[in-house]
Amino acid sequence: MVRTSLVRQASAVHSTLHNNQATQQQNYATVPVTNSSHSSFVTGIQKSPTTETAQKKTLVLLGTGWGTTTILKNLDTRKYNVVVVSPRNYFLFTPLLPSCTVGTTEGRSIMDPIRHIVQRQGKAMQFYEAQCSDIDLATKELVLKQVPDTSAASSTTVTSNVPVRIRYDHLVVGVGGTYNTFGTPGVEQYACFLKEMGDASKIRRRLKDAIEKASFSNISEEERDRLLHVVVVGGGPTGVEFAGEVHDLVTEDLVKWVPGLSHRIKITVIEALPNLLPSFDKRLVAYTQRTFTKNGIEMRTGTRVKEVRDKTILVSSDSGESEIPYGTIVWAAGIRAREFAHTLRGKVPDVQTSGRGLIIDDYLRVKGVEDIWALGDCTVSKYAPLAQVASQQGKWLAKALNKMAADNAQADTFSRIANSVEPFNYMSNGSLAYIGGERAIAEIPLFRKNIAVGGPFASVFWKAYCLWELSSLRSSLSVATDWTKRSLFGRTMSVD
Ligand SMILES: Cc1cc2nc3c(=O)[nH]c(=O)nc-3n(C[C@H](O)[C@H](O)[C@H](O)COP(=O)(O)OP(=O)(O)OC[C@H]3O[C@@H](n4cnc5c(N)ncnc54)[C@H](O)[C@@H]3O)c2cc1C
Repeated sequence: MVRTSLVRQASAVHSTLHNNQATQQQNYATVPVTNSSHSSFVTGIQKSPTTETAQKKTLVLLGTGWGTTTILKNLDTRKYNVVVVSPRNYFLFTPLLPSCTVGTTEGRSIMDPIRHIVQRQGKAMQFYEAQCSDIDLATKELVLKQVPDTSAASSTTVTSNVPVRIRYDHLVVGVGGTYNTFGTPGVEQYACFLKEMGDASKIRRRLKDAIEKASFSNISEEERDRLLHVVVVGGGPTGVEFAGEVHDLVTEDLVKWVPGLSHRIKITVIEALPNLLPSFDKRLVAYTQRTFTKNGIEMRTGTRVKEVRDKTILVSSDSGESEIPYGTIVWAAGIRAREFAHTLRGKVPDVQTSGRGLIIDDYLRVKGVEDIWALGDCTVSKYAPLAQVASQQGKWLAKALNKMAADNAQADTFSRIANSVEPFNYMSNGSLAYIGGERAIAEIPLFRKNIAVGGPFASVFWKAYCLWELSSLRSSLSVATDWTKRSLFGRTMSVD
C-alpha cells in the first residue's frame, strides 16, 4: 500500500515539474510530500494523503553513498515517508574505483541502482535525482536542483531548471566529501580526481590518449617521456591503489600492446609527509615502499606540490623547488565536506565553526539545529573518512530512527532518542589496500591485537573482501566476471 501511494506521488511530482517548466511562472516548484503536519505547504498538483501516510513523518535522506544506503537497508521504511535525494541514482562501491581507471573492473559492475537496492529489500521510498542546494530551517524546507541532462536525447527529456522545494520532518545529511585542492593553483584546471565514476572514466581516457599520442614518431623523445609520465599526488590508500593499478596495466597489458613504449611509462607518487600510507602499521608502510621500489614506482615523499601547470608540476622539498613534466596527473591528496554541508553550516555559524564539515554529537545530531542528523565524510568527528565509518553510522542511525518511530516520539524526539539509545561507537574492522602486482596490505584486529599482513595472501583476502562486501549478488558476479575476463583476455582501455 505504501509503495502504491509513493508511485502515485512520483507521478504527481512529474506533473508538477512539467507544469512549472511549461509556465515558468513560479520561482519554485513544490513537491507534494504526503504528510499531516505539513500538508499545508503542498501546492501544485495535490493529492489527498492516505490516513496511513498522513500519520507518518517525512524522513529525507540526502545522498546515496555508504552512509545513507546503509540507513535504507536497515530502516523500517513502513514507519516513515522516506524520500531520498541524490544527484546519483546509484550506490558506488568506492574501494574498487581505482581499478576502474585502467579497466581491471568495469564501472557498471560497482554501480548498484538505489531503486534495485530498496526493491530487493522489499522496502519503499521516493527518489529524486537532484542536488540539495539550500535549506530553510524555519519552514523545514529543502531546495532541490535537478541534475543537468547531459545525454544526447536531452531535447526530448523533461529537465526543469526551476528549483523544487520539499518539506522534511527529519533530515539525514550524507552528502559525503569532495576533493580538497588546499587552494593549490592549477589543480582544478589540469588534474584528474578520483571520487566518482565520471572521474575514473576521465582518467582512463587521459591515460589512453597519452599513450596513443606518445606512439607518434613526429614528437621529441622528451615530449614522449612527458606524455608517458603518470603522476599521483597523495600517498594515502587511494593514491597508492591507483599507482598499483597503473603498474598492473603496464606490466600485464601495455607490455604486449605497445612493447616499444611500455618500458618508458613512469609512475611517480608525490606525498608531503615523510612516508606513504600514514594511517597504516609501520611494517606495512615499509613493505609497500619496498614493493613500489621493486616495481619501479618512484616515491617523492616530503614533497609539496606548489602549482600544477599545463604540462608540468612545480614541487618543493628540502632540496629546493623543481618542475616535473607529466602526461597524466591524478590528485588524491585529501577531501573536504561537500558544498551543501557548508551551506547548512552557514545557517548556524556560531555553532558550526569547523571549515572541514558538519560538527555532530555522539548521537550523530548536527549541532545547533533540530531534527537533522549527519554522517560520513561530510562530518567532523574523531573518525577517519572511511566507508566502514559511514556504514556503521548508517546502521546505528537506522536503528535509532526505527526506535524513534516505535516510541511514537513527538516534540521531544531529540531528548528521547538520546535517553533511550547508546551513543554511536565505531569499531574498526581493519584496513586493506591493494598495492599492485597481486599484492595487498591488510591490518586486521584480532584478539585485541592488530595483525599486519602484506603480500599475495593479503591480495586474495582483499579480493574476497571486495566480493563479499559488494552491495548485491549481481555486483559480485559482475566483478568476478570482470576479473576472470581480465586474466583470460587482458584489460580493455577502450573509452568514448
Ligand atoms: C577511490 C576511493 C577508494 C576508497 N576506498 C575505501 C576503502 O577501501 N575502504 C574504506 O573504508 N573507505 C574507502 N574510501 C572512502 C569511502 O568511499 C568514503 O569514506 C565513503 O564513501 C563515505 O561515505 P558517505 O556516505 O559519507 O559519502 P559518499 O559515499 O561519498 O556518498 C555521498 C552521496 O551524497 C550525494 N550528494 C552529493 N552532494 C549532494 C547534495 N547536494 N544533495 C544530495 N546528495 C548529494 C552523492 O552523489 C553521493 O551519493 C574510498 C574512497 C575513494 C574515493
